[in-house]
This record gives sequence, C-alpha cells and structure tokens, in this order.
Amino acid sequence: LNRRLAEFGTTIFAEMSALALRTGSINLGQGFPDTDGPEEVREAAVRALRDGRGNQYPPGPGVPELRTAIAAHQQRWYGLSYDPDTEVLVTAGATEAIAAALLALLEPGDEVIALEPYYDSYAACIAMAGGTRVPVTLRPHEGSFRLDLDELRAAVTDRTRLLLVNTPHNPTGTVLTRAELAAIAELAVERDLLVVTDEVYEHLVFDDAEHLPLATLPGMRDRTVTIGSAGKTFSFTGWKVGWVTASPPLVTAVRSAKQFLTYVSSGPFQYAVAEALALPDAYFTAFREDMLAKRDLLAAGLKDAGFDVFRTAGTYFVTTDIRPLGESDGFAFCRALPERAGVVAIPNAVFYDHREAGAPFVRFAFCKRVEVLAEAVQRLKTLA
Ligand code: PMP
Ligand code: GLN
Repeated sequence: LNRRLAEFGTTIFAEMSALALRTGSINLGQGFPDTDGPEEVREAAVRALRDGRGNQYPPGPGVPELRTAIAAHQQRWYGLSYDPDTEVLVTAGATEAIAAALLALLEPGDEVIALEPYYDSYAACIAMAGGTRVPVTLRPHEGSFRLDLDELRAAVTDRTRLLLVNTPHNPTGTVLTRAELAAIAELAVERDLLVVTDEVYEHLVFDDAEHLPLATLPGMRDRTVTIGSAGKTFSFTGWKVGWVTASPPLVTAVRSAKQFLTYVSSGPFQYAVAEALALPDAYFTAFREDMLAKRDLLAAGLKDAGFDVFRTAGTYFVTTDIRPLGESDGFAFCRALPERAGVVAIPNAVFYDHREAGAPFVRFAFCKRVEVLAEAVQRLKTLA
C-alpha cells in the first residue's frame, strides 16, 4: 500500500458492520436503511432489466432519462437550472462523484479545506489526488456543531484550491444556515476558490431547518460542484447511483476523471432512479416524516440512557457526547459497546484530524425500523 493511502486502513463502516455481524449486535453504525425504497421504483428497475434497458454500458455521462430527471429535480426543489447534456453527470454513487471531483480538480500540493468531522472518503480522496487537507473543526455550541467563520477564513492560504462542504452534515446532523453558507460563498468568491458540496442528505432536514444548496448563492453556480445520491434520497444504497451538477467546464473535468474510474455503472438502476426523481412531493414528505419520528425515538432513548444528545437538524445520524456516562474515549466505548449492550455505533474521532477534538463523540444511525430502534434503546438503558 502506498504512503498516500497507508494511514487510512479499513473504512470504519466495514469494520463496524463486521463487528455487528460477529457479535449479533444491532447495527446503528453504518448508515444504511433497513427498509428498501419505494416498491414502484424497484419495479421500474425490474422493468428496465427485463426490457433490456441499461444491461450494456450506458452512455458515459449517464442515460439521458436520468440526466433530464436530475436537472428537473434541481429546478423543482431549488430553482436551479442545469442543461442535462452539459451540466449533469451520473456517477457510481456520491462516493465516485467525490473521488472524481477531487482527482479532476486538484494539483498535487493544493490545499482543500474540509469541515471536520468529515466523511471518511474525503480524506482518502484528497490524499489520492495528492492534495493536502486542511480541516476546519465544527464545534459544539448550544446543542449543535457550528462552523466558526473566522477559523474558516483563517484556514485559506495561497495554496487553497477548493472548499469541500457537506450539508446536511454527516456525522453531526448540522444543517448549515443561510448566514453560514453566505459566508462560505463570499469567501469562495473573494479568494476565487472552487467548491465541492456534498448534499446527499438534501431531503432529510427536520423542524425549521432548510436545505439550501450552495449553488443557489450569489457567485456560486459556476464554481460549485454539487453532489447528490439516490442511495440516500430513495433508500437504495446498494444501487450506487449518484450525480454531479455543475457548469460545463467543471462537469467536463469531473467526467474526465470518472471515465477512467468506473467508466459507467448501474445501467438499469439509472432508469429506475429517473422515475424516482419524478415522484410526487408526497414521497419526499413521507420519507422525511418517517425519519423524523425515528430521530425523535432514538434521540429520546439516548437521553434516557444517559448520553448528551446533539440536535439533528438533518441526515439520519445522531451525535452524542458520552462523558455523562463517565466515558471519554469514543473508540474504546464503541469497541466495548457490542459486549456491554449489543449495539454498534461509530466513534466520531475517525472523522477528525484533531482526534482529541472528536474523542468523546459517538454517532448512532436512526435509519432503521421502529422496532429495531426501540430494542436498541432498551439495550442502551443498561448503560445508565
Ligand atoms: N457523502 C456522505 C456525507 C455520505 O454520508 C455518504 C454515504 N454514507 C456518501 C457521501 C456516499 O454516498 P453513496 O452511497 O451514494 O456513494
Ligand atoms: N455513508 C454511510 C455512513 O456514513 C456509510 C457509507 C459507507 O459504508 N461507505 O454511515
């Protein structure tokens, strides 16, 4: 293994899901729903398979039906207008979109500012692209994790090429506010930075939070690569259909990298996701409300069990502080948790360069059936 990758080892998600299997624990670690997405979307995939649509290499940028549906989705929800032919690219999940964007846009030595804690593939992809990551830490403030705008500004240097943003944010559940996004946008314009924004949880925002795509802010449309995922929005994480929307030069750049990573993927599923994107508002509302009820169930259970619980404004994760339980090391806690309570969770420290800043935080996923969450909550009560 080369030096660029050696520090990353095995992704925490594989490690913790294996641990859950081995110990027979409830897996609230890796974020995947235990209920598949809509029946009619599954049927659409079966139809595509049966009708011979997508069983051979689809077009490099994605099938036209899906690119048109992605453009229509950005228009419908955000008033953003993208040309399906030149400004949309289908990828093998958001994961490939992130990798291809970073490989395409970075020169060796370029600095990338990423919000810390960051999704684990960001660090590995920045490294594979030869870039240098510069984490800006989200800090607990009145029950949620917030961005310190002065710290963000101070992190920009002459070597900074790109801001890597994620909202709604995994693992903290933070949804960046309009003011925070405006500050990011101003900085990007002022310092002429590109922005890659991972918005895979765009439809999972709760209470009074609102998802605002960075590309909608002044000066941002043409410097922003926006990433979405059918895995998250339609609960088909195994299909690996993701997408990029951006200006023509940026999409062309990302496609240049993508063509040599997977070339294409998910042929029949692309047709099904095209239909999913056109589902009526009722689907999106029901999806959000279902997850909201699950958030409330798990958050209340974790509180009862003695955790400090941060407010999840978006995503399907709850971040907790384990110090009220007399613990301070999230790694040790998560390693022992299957034995102690039959539950698996993720230590947020793996998403930090400044490991000590993330040490006491532990993430639980609530994209699970209510009875599974209820059982997990029962088990966790034994910790108190
Ligand atoms: N970004 C974030 C923030 C995620 O949480 C995930 C999924 N865990 C991904 C990207 C990857 O998405 P996909 O499964 O579509 O590759
Ligand atoms: N995004 C999911 C999470 O944060 C996991 C995806 C993966 O396993 N790579 O849990």
